[in-house]
Formats: sequence, C-alpha cells, structure tokens
Amino acid sequence: MFDAILIANRGEIACRVIRTARAMGVRTVAVYSDADQHAMHVTLAHSAVHIGPAPSTESYLRGERIIEAALTTGAQAIHPGYGFLSENPDFVDAVEAAGLTFIGPSAAAIRAMGLKDAAKALMVKAGVPVVPGYHGADQSPDLLAREADAIGYPVLIKARAGGGGKGMRLVERAEDFTENLASCQREAAASFGDDAVLIEKFITAPRHIEVQVFGDGTSAVHLYERDCSLQRRHQKVIEEAPAPGMTQKVRDAMGAAAVRAAEAIGYAGAGTVEFIVDGSGPLRTDGFWFMEMNTRLQVEHPVTEAVTGIDLVAWQLRVASGEALPLAQTHIPLKGHAFEARLYAEDAKRDFLPATGTLTAFTPAPTLRCDTGVAAGDTISPHYDPMIAKLISHGPTRGAALNALLTGLEDTLIAGSTTNLAFLAALLRDEAFKRGEVDTGVIARRGAALTTLPAPSPEASALAALAAMDLLTERPHQGFTLWAPVPQTVRLTHGDEVLSLPVITHGAGRFTVDGVDITVTPTPTGARVNGIALRLDTTPDRITVLERTTPHVFTPVDPLAAAADTDTADSITAPMPGVVKAVMTEAGAQVAKGTPLVILEAMKMEHTLRAPRDGVVDVLATTPGTQVSDGDTLLTLEPADG
Ligand code: ADP
Ligand code: ADP
Ligand code: MG
Repeated sequence: MFDAILIANRGEIACRVIRTARAMGVRTVAVYSDADQHAMHVTLAHSAVHIGPAPSTESYLRGERIIEAALTTGAQAIHPGYGFLSENPDFVDAVEAAGLTFIGPSAAAIRAMGLKDAAKALMVKAGVPVVPGYHGADQSPDLLAREADAIGYPVLIKARAGGGGKGMRLVERAEDFTENLASCQREAAASFGDDAVLIEKFITAPRHIEVQVFGDGTSAVHLYERDCSLQRRHQKVIEEAPAPGMTQKVRDAMGAAAVRAAEAIGYAGAGTVEFIVDGSGPLRTDGFWFMEMNTRLQVEHPVTEAVTGIDLVAWQLRVASGEALPLAQTHIPLKGHAFEARLYAEDAKRDFLPATGTLTAFTPAPTLRCDTGVAAGDTISPHYDPMIAKLISHGPTRGAALNALLTGLEDTLIAGSTTNLAFLAALLRDEAFKRGEVDTGVIARRGAALTTLPAPSPEASALAALAAMDLLTERPHQGFTLWAPVPQTVRLTHGDEVLSLPVITHGAGRFTVDGVDITVTPTPTGARVNGIALRLDTTPDRITVLERTTPHVFTPVDPLAAAADTDTADSITAPMPGVVKAVMTEAGAQVAKGTPLVILEAMKMEHTLRAPRDGVVDVLATTPGTQVSDGDTLLTLEPADG
C-alpha cells in the first residue's frame, strides 16, 4: 500500500477519498486554490499545497503544478476524483512519466473510451450492444441528415467529445435537423474543442442504467447496476441501486456486457459502463445498449457501496498499489436498496439557476450518509460545481430506502443558500416514482408541479415572528425566555408579501401570534410548534424556517430601508460569472418586461436574462463570447419617464 497519496480534486469527492485513505493508514495531501484555502478537504488532509487562483483552469486543471506538489510532499500516487483531470489521458502520461502512480485506468484505456464514436466502434467489436446510429468520420451535413433519415426520427445528435449532459440535441422531425446540427456543433466546439458528432436513435421511454465495473488491467468484475433515470436535462438528480424491475437474467446480461467492455480495453480500477435501456415495458436482455464508459469513480458510487458493503475507494487504492481484485464475482454481495439525492445550491423556481451564498446552517439528518465538502459557515463558491452534498439512504427494500431518504430530507437543516431540497423531496413523493415507474422524461413531464412550494403554515410564520423578536433564545434550565414586551407587531417579508404579525406572550413557550395560539418546544435543529416539527435558522437579516422540506425565508422589515423595486431597474447585470452565449437585442430596440435579452452560460447551464421592465435598450455592453464577472452590467435601458 502507498504511504501517501495526493488528491487532485476538491469538495465532497476529495473529502470522500481522504476519509478512506486515512482509515487505511495512508497519508493524504490536498491541493487547493485561492477560493478553497479554508475548505473542508484542506482541513481533513494531513497536508495541503496551494496550486493557484480560483478558476479551475489556473488551479485544479494544472496537471504539472499538481504533479510537482506530489513530488515535493512525497506522495507516491495521485487520486483524481471525478471531473477536472480524472479523464485526461495526457495527465495520466505525465503522472507516470514523473514516476508516480495514477489511481485509475491507463492512459490508453481512457483514450479508447474518451470519444463516444470510437468507443462505440470498439464496443461493436467486443460484442457489446450499442445504440443504433451513425458514428462515422464523415461529418458533412448532407450525409448526417441522410443518416438521420435512415435511423428514423426521433434522433439524438451527440458531441462525440461530450460529457456532463452537454452537447446533445433531440430532434423530432427531419425539417429541424440542420438547425439542431449547427447548434450542437457550435456547443461542442465551444465546450470540448471538437465539433464532431454522432447520431443515435432516440430510445423512447428511456431509462439510464449503468453498471459499476472494477478491473485489474486484465480481467474485471461488476458490482451490479445503478438506475440513474431521474435526470434533468441529461444530468442525474436521484440515483438508486438496484434498478427497479431488474431481473436476475437481465442483470447477468448487462453485467456480462459491462465486463466485456472493461476487459476489451484492459481496464484497471473503478469504471462505469452506461447503458440506455428501453423502459417502455419490462426490462429485456435485448433491450439495453451501450452509451458510454466513464473511466473514473462516479458521483453516485455511494449507492453501490451501500448495497454491496464495499468501499470502492479502498478497492481503488488496493488495485492501484498492485493488489489483486479483492473479491471474485460470485462473492460480491447485494443487499437491500439504496438511494442518493444530489443536494445542489440552485433555484428551482428560477430555471435552476445556480445559487451561491454562505451556509448559515447545515445539519444533515443523522440517519443518512452525507458526502459533503462543506459545513455550516462555508460559502458556496461560484467557481465550481454547486453541489452541496450527496445524501444517501439504505434499507431492506426499495420502499424502505425511499422513505428513509425522504424522512432524512425532512430532518435536514440547511439555510443560507437557495437549494433544491424541496425539489428532491417532490420527486421522492411522486406516486409513479414510488411505484418504480422511472424514465428520463419524468422531471420534464412533471414540470412546475415539482417546483411549486406551499405557503408557510401559521405555525411556520409564527416561529419566524418569535425568532425575529428574539423570543426563542433559550436560557439555561428555563426553556424559552419568559420576558417579552407588551403586545407587539412583527413585520416580515416573505417572497413578495409583507406580513404583519401581532404577537402576545403568555408565558414560557406560549404565545398568540396573528390570532393563533402557539405552543413552542425547542428541538436540536429548531422547534416543535403546536406539535409540528420545524427547523429554524436565524441570522440578523434572514430567518429560515424549514417545514418538512419546504424552506420559508423571511426577512425582518427595516422600516427605514427604501423598498427596492425591480420594475424600475435600468440595467441587466450578470447574476454570476459566466460566458455570454447570445444577445437577442440591440441598442435602440423597444423591449417588453420579461423579454429574453441575453443568454449567459455559467456552471454548465444556460440562463436567460430578461428585460426587468418595458423600455428601450440604451447601451448594449456585451457581445457573445464575452467572459463576464458577477455583477457586470450587460446592458442598460433608457431611463424610464418620470
Ligand atoms: P457522473 O457521470 O459521475 O454522474 P456527471 O456526469 O454529473 O457525473 O459529471 C461528474 C462531474 O464531472 C461533475 O462535477 C461535472 O461537472 C464534471 N464533468 C464531467 N464531464 C464533464 C465535461 N465533459 N465537461 C465539464 N464537466 C464535466
Ligand atoms: P454524457 O457524456 O453527457 O453523460 P451520455 O451519452 O451518457 O452523455 O447521455 C446522457 C443522457 O442522455 C443519458 O443518461 C440519457 O438520459 C440521455 N440519452 C443518451 N443517449 C440517448 C438515446 N440514444 N436515447 C434516449 N436518451 C439518451
Ligand atoms: Mg453519461
């Protein structure tokens, strides 16, 4: 085993790797950018090396700087995590040239799977079923259009170098092909520096089922499947293992195909073979097709760990240090069912715009496994992926595991940043999902129903009012404050509303708020109000009450502050750092409130910025392709009359 390893990553995955390495007695070296000086992964590691400024191109993607850090700290191996340099074969070559071990597959194996077209050709040879389609070298638009016709609509155009759900276009009708091809090629060139595409039959009612494989460079085993069908825009949201409706026959067929795929490229370490599956009926041995192989540890690996009891990072370290595969295929257990939900800092109501902010509170339910890289007090930085944590449940049955995750989300306290907590819970409460009816279109079909939040109950508003009056501060041995001023009215903003809540204090924990009698008993993360469990976080300018999984954010009204009115805004500013993708207006144009004016691409997503009011564009201060910072003015409107 290694004495020391360097983890070339940040956030939850760096912490995850450090935890196992430490448990195995392996010394750990973290690397960090300016933005991560005080990050959890830095504090958890035995030592840490600063590698550059916040942007990942100047820090976590600088292979030579990371290799130098490994050499100077005496680390013998580098664990890449996922993302960043994990699937970069040139980095693997450089690591090995420096006399270090890359904890992962060979550069050749990564190259073989790096481009989706070449990978598919290789899989055909290895006897692995692939999605019907065209993955040839000729990229002339006419030929591609003819191939699409031959495949039959609907088709999916995919960037061969794509990843992370990007560079993909679903085309339903032949007349839309040319336009979608051009936009896919543009995105592919901009994101991956390669505009070549392949065309695939779009599998209807598709399910995404992937198989965890583990190789020693010659032979491989599989650790069963994960179902990752619950996706938003081709990105995974909730994952589970095993797949609902899986039979032993189909599992054996998919497992064998995945092992063939791994062995065909002499795979070493942890990898995932992703299949698209026909979900229109029961799973079939002839109803799954290879999509791609991810040559790294996957984000959702914990669900596999939960059902097998195997620590995949421990296996990675053992195999990379020269040990044999720890278990033979027939000895790999499969017990119960597991779910993972990806908790993101994002605003589901604003088209899932990534959010930032400082987590004023974060207490995950103790019943869940929580893989995270942040704690209360940490800031969600706009520089990196906005994932806050992965919350994982395990139970004897699918129903038990699902309930455990849902009740875990209902027991999790998080405040300070907008999150997708309520969205995740809405998915878990979906009746069809509960029955195991999953396909990749669920989220798009359910639409706004998943992002609509109920209004606060009288109890939730009352708790906010009491918190605003500081009536909840516990005194040792006395419970809540007894003393309170004479009847008083608290003014709080909630969304667009201003609430005026009269409060009368009767005694310890007994109040009348807005005409409703309230009994309050404190709990570790909040209070029970008239028997309803609520989580609470209070800061001077914001009170967050979590009611089941719905966050209600209240702001104490400062009577002296002038009301901000977005309807009089004179400009559009960038809500986060990003790249301007498109500008849909020009100076002098008359625009109506709500008209899309600028598309900003940030954190893997496109965000539409709209006119804040009716008006005439005065100055257009940006052009497509421009890199902008948070708060930069993109355009201004002529001053409104009066
Ligand atoms: P998984 O396939 O493991 O579920 P994702 O597809 O969500 O994971 O990607 C894992 C991580 O790697 C994410 O943090 C994502 O930002 C990053 N990532 C993966 N591929 C790419 C890519 N081609 N471009 C940008 N980021 C990527
Ligand atoms: P990425 O590298 O971005 O992860 P994938 O090829 O793995 O790209 O596809 C991502 C997702 O897109 C899949 O999980 C699935 O939901 C959807 N998808 C991909 N190929 C098809 C297909 N042929 N038919 C239907 N859906 C597909
Ligand atoms: Mg994929």
